[in-house]
Amino acid sequence: MTSTLGAPAQRSQKYPPLSNWVAGKPAPSSGHLFDVLNPSDGTLLSQVPLSGAAELDGAVAAAAAALQGWSNTPIKERVQVFYRYRALLELHGEELASLITEEHGKIASEAEAEVLKAVELTEFACSLPQIVPGEVLEVSRGIECRLDRYPIGVVASIVPFNFPTMVPHWTIPNAIALGNCLILKPSELVPLSANRIAALLAEAGLPPGVFNVVHGGQEVVEAICDHPDIAAVSFVGSTRVAKLVYRRATSALKRALALGGAKNHLFVLPDANPDLTAAGVATSMTGCAGQRCMAGSVMLAVSDTDHLIRQMVEYTRGLMPGRDIGPVISQEARERILRSIDEAVAAGATLLLDGRKATVAGREGGYWIGPTILDQVRPDMSIARDEIFGPVLAIIRTSDLDAAIAIENRSLYGNAASVFTESGGLARYVAERASAGMVGVNVGVPVPREPFSFGGWNESKFGAGDITGRGSIEFWTRAKKTTTRWSPA
Ligand code: NAD
Repeated sequence: MTSTLGAPAQRSQKYPPLSNWVAGKPAPSSGHLFDVLNPSDGTLLSQVPLSGAAELDGAVAAAAAALQGWSNTPIKERVQVFYRYRALLELHGEELASLITEEHGKIASEAEAEVLKAVELTEFACSLPQIVPGEVLEVSRGIECRLDRYPIGVVASIVPFNFPTMVPHWTIPNAIALGNCLILKPSELVPLSANRIAALLAEAGLPPGVFNVVHGGQEVVEAICDHPDIAAVSFVGSTRVAKLVYRRATSALKRALALGGAKNHLFVLPDANPDLTAAGVATSMTGCAGQRCMAGSVMLAVSDTDHLIRQMVEYTRGLMPGRDIGPVISQEARERILRSIDEAVAAGATLLLDGRKATVAGREGGYWIGPTILDQVRPDMSIARDEIFGPVLAIIRTSDLDAAIAIENRSLYGNAASVFTESGGLARYVAERASAGMVGVNVGVPVPREPFSFGGWNESKFGAGDITGRGSIEFWTRAKKTTTRWSPA
């Protein structure tokens, strides 16, 4: 591939070390270099700088310099950049997808789906002029109130490893189309896509400084939370770090929205459609190797569901690591997931499918785990409560639906819940009672599509509002209310 990533370097790494992206071009960082590995085979792809406060200062200065011009550009003109960018995403879709597969490991179809989702998110931003016109009302004779939305200023978006392209697009198009200048802090585990996105935005005509990338880890995230010239911070990642970021950014008096981890429950009722349920549960738990905040992780099997479990296990058995399921992100993640499975077995769970010894011929250095299904899991076990983030399903059996709902309701998280049933009434009963921000009925991964907005409940999200769709408009703007008196004729 050609590109901003440059020609292969001298070391046995595929791409040369990455730079930050500031004021429309690559910018050096003196930060220590962190190895970026291909999770499918463990080979060295590139290196990413772990930037600090000095590099962030440079990016904030570039963003601040661009702010006046960009925020004063009418929104209909601003979104023209995103119409052109959308076309570039489509033109370079295959290249972006293969970059995602290299740095993240997910299989080609999942990487392609991620790019398509980035296109959809960009389309929503293109529609913003139709959605955000101000409001005006004659509140008394001769007195008019109007509301206009203004950008907040220089803002930051901190993102996780599991969607190198899609999750950055939860924030980039909307925040920028609404007139802000943005600093993206990608995950140091998957930093390559961000530089390619930056180059495509520049090619689409985005003025220098409106979008910047500062690579790094904890140090630069803390600097973002503390920086006096950053007005708002969005975060997507684990609950542990979401809490740190939310507390630190809000105590620096910034607007913050922090999406955290998840433990999603799939209710399976005896009358469920067997084919739909087998495919829905299996793909929910194994998609992206279970590394999705929307992944089904606990199956609540209500009453007599043996026939459904059997079919679901057979379906899942047919999914092959390397062909249908990518590796997990790192050796460390693999070991952590294997430990969780071992502990569950030691605590009395039974293995219906055991993926612990999975390997892929020719790619033995990859971080593979096959789909793993544990039955007879008790609600108090760690495998039933903690986020595993791997292709692992814990089955908890309950004799009645209310007991299953009570288990789901006790979870600390609240991203998603799904119910599989042919009964509209029972589906409604579960949907109303699930303590989750996103609910599926016969849908294993109930991601709301634009214009609906993405966001969970409980410890899956800190802060008001959602991160995408209509919900994001409130977060990325501030409302000005103007009251005018005139002399009625
Ligand atoms: P993570 O919390 O480890 O990292 C997220 C970001 O925070 C990264 O950019 C990372 O560099 C930075 N970071 C890591 N440790 C930090 C620290 N101590 N201080 C400051 N910054 C730090 O998450 P991850 O492993 O990259 O991603 C997986 C997690 O993200 C899972 O928990 C998953 O559920 C969650 N996630 C949630 C959503 C959602 O919408 N709720 C979406 C995607 C992923």
